[in-house]
Amino acid sequence: MATKKVEIIVQPKPPHFVGDGFRVHNFIPSGFRLDMKRMDPFIMLDYNSKFHFSGTDTPRGVGVHPHRGFETVTIAYKGRVEHGDSAGGGGIIGEGDVQWMTAASGVLHKEFHETEWAKEGGIFQMVQLWVNLPAKDKMSPPKYQAIKNSEMKNVDLGENGFIEVIAGDYNGEKGPASTFSPVNLMNAKLKKGGKADFSFPAGFNTAALVIEGSVVVNGGEKVPTDHLVLFGNEGENFTFEATEDSIVLVISGEPLNEPIFPHGPFVMNSREEIIQAFDDYNNGKFGYLED
Ligand code: MN
Repeated sequence: MATKKVEIIVQPKPPHFVGDGFRVHNFIPSGFRLDMKRMDPFIMLDYNSKFHFSGTDTPRGVGVHPHRGFETVTIAYKGRVEHGDSAGGGGIIGEGDVQWMTAASGVLHKEFHETEWAKEGGIFQMVQLWVNLPAKDKMSPPKYQAIKNSEMKNVDLGENGFIEVIAGDYNGEKGPASTFSPVNLMNAKLKKGGKADFSFPAGFNTAALVIEGSVVVNGGEKVPTDHLVLFGNEGENFTFEATEDSIVLVISGEPLNEPIFPHGPFVMNSREEIIQAFDDYNNGKFGYLED
């Protein structure tokens, strides 16, 4: 087994707002290196680094909008969000929780700060990741998985800290999320000086986002807070050593290697399928959701 080398360390781009509730740095697809193909099946990664929202009686967020062809995965680190969709999925997630929304054939959904949290306001920190679906599953029924922190697989690393497995597995210990293709998603929660070893197939597209603290990768380069490390596709193994108490989101997935045809909130395999998505949306086939 060979070492998976660091390909590039990506610094956060200047943030922009999604709706009025998510102040995000976009990492995927960001043009240079990290286009939709490079991290296939992860086609979008927006990161709301720690940001303070003042209290309000009108929760901030994103109003009703459609999706088709992929999954939206929201990982909450600070703050609380409420989600609702036209397929009946919905719920509130808070610190440490994940919502895994399979849009597949199409949903309308809305994403807002949870009402009570919004009243108080506070520090907000989240990741939204879009996981592409294989062509054969793009038109399957929508689905919603709420994954509470307590339901995740905790892999104890003793004094080093622990790994919280959301999807896929860490050394054979499986996370609770069901996925359509091989996807590994986990938080490494390491103590200062704590180490963790990872191993994923060489061909899997692999990256890690430092949410808190900083880590040294493979005994070499240091990845600071809010930076992403992209790994090369040769070799399987890499290590983190935390230089302070740290949280790192690790993503690794088998590429689907299918054509990617994105347009706004739809990600399909061809132009024809995108036109069909707009037709279906305009004809009310995504259902109904109140504002
Ligand atoms: Mn959305």
